[in-house]
Amino acid sequence: MLCAMDARTAHLIGRRLLAWYGKSARDLPWRHSPTPYGVWVSEVMLQQTVVATVIPYFERWMARFPDVASLASADEREALAAWEGLGYYRRALNLRRAARLAMEGHGGRVPSSQAALLNLPGVGPYIASAIRSLAFGKDEVALDANVARVFLRLLGLRAEAGDATARRAIRGAAEQALPPGRSGDYNQALMDFGSLICRPRRPRCADCFLAEKCEAFRRGLQHDVPQRTAGTLKRIRTVVAVFVTDGRVYVQKRPPGGLFEGMWEFPGGKVQGGETPRRALARECREELGASVTPGRKLAELTHYYTVFEVRLRAFLCPAPPELPEDEAHRWVPLGELDRYPMPSANRRIVAALEAHAQGQGSAPVRRSRRGGGARRTRRRARA
Ligand code: SF4
Repeated sequence: MLCAMDARTAHLIGRRLLAWYGKSARDLPWRHSPTPYGVWVSEVMLQQTVVATVIPYFERWMARFPDVASLASADEREALAAWEGLGYYRRALNLRRAARLAMEGHGGRVPSSQAALLNLPGVGPYIASAIRSLAFGKDEVALDANVARVFLRLLGLRAEAGDATARRAIRGAAEQALPPGRSGDYNQALMDFGSLICRPRRPRCADCFLAEKCEAFRRGLQHDVPQRTAGTLKRIRTVVAVFVTDGRVYVQKRPPGGLFEGMWEFPGGKVQGGETPRRALARECREELGASVTPGRKLAELTHYYTVFEVRLRAFLCPAPPELPEDEAHRWVPLGELDRYPMPSANRRIVAALEAHAQGQGSAPVRRSRRGGGARRTRRRARA
């Protein structure tokens, strides 16, 4: 299966990519005056999130946390609030932790060595190479799923992008095509080319300046490369309790180490096989909060998507029992102040339903989110 690219073809591909990028580069805010910190923030945001969604978040983040020092001194809630709606919140927490490590170990600068970068939480080989090439001019290929797809097609390899043997061939070809001293532009050209021309679906081969060098195109395989693994959507039913007393709402903080770490939510959990939603909610409140709860009227019902999960969530208004715990992770918050508490987007939609209910508009209508609700995301890296 292993195919190599001859040096002449590789050099030609590198030169053509640079020439095209010189004329067609996208105008993106992190490209205006690239700094190691700005490149790092943008690359972290671009993981699993499309460019159009990232742009306003990036601009707000850089206005709020313009450098490593300002991010390091922010508290967790501020960082999560600035990230709210972008999803994959661990990224924000890791950025803040990494900023603190950069203050302690690197004088408040983003390090340039690969080893030091890989020691920062949330920085993997791709982000390290992107920072090193775009911000420090190191001759390195930043190889992500988009770049892998482009080279799989150029090489005509019918393989999955993650296949280890194919990945060695991809890296070899991508490194061979890299014009020395131009790695920043070359990597960004590949990012743009993978988003605008050699797209995941419906590649624009008729407009492609690399078509004559593309093995997949020559053999008519461009729609079959890379091979795709069939994804299965897992369906989950969840329930949450909405306690309201004297205009205050009961919320709890997600524990460290798990999904949505540090964010706030309504208490609840999964509906188990054979349970009704109300029974499940009573059980969850007993187990999680040690509270005896009788779910009341349904406030909202919505469907939300997280990567491979379809989550159907029902929210019930519940009378607040006296034994509800109150501590650092369990609080009564005035309804009007909930916007200061970072929340996953499904919980934010429940807040909207609660506000509508409080204004006398009754229960929010049952709504279905569009797939990927909130920030538009992909299961892998998105550059569209
Ligand atoms: S010819 Fe088509 S498949 Fe090949 S690199 Fe160009 S856009 Fe991609």
